[in-house]
Amino acid sequence: MPLPNRYRRVIRIGPVKVATYYTRHGVDRHTAACTAPGCGFSADYRDRAAAELAARTHHCSA
Ligand SMILES: [Zn+2]
Repeated sequence: MPLPNRYRRVIRIGPVKVATYYTRHGVDRHTAACTAPGCGFSADYRDRAAAELAARTHHCSA
């Protein structure tokens, strides 16, 4: 999936990065994406808290 280059408030929690961006519809979206090689975890959330929680509780499956 192509990632928009409009990330704000990027933080790192362990290997996972959390960022907030606006969709092209002007809607806030929050992404948690793991940067560990071979993991590939990434997900979008409506709530920043949900994205941060997912990042905190993420365990790489690779
Ligand atoms: Zn991971």
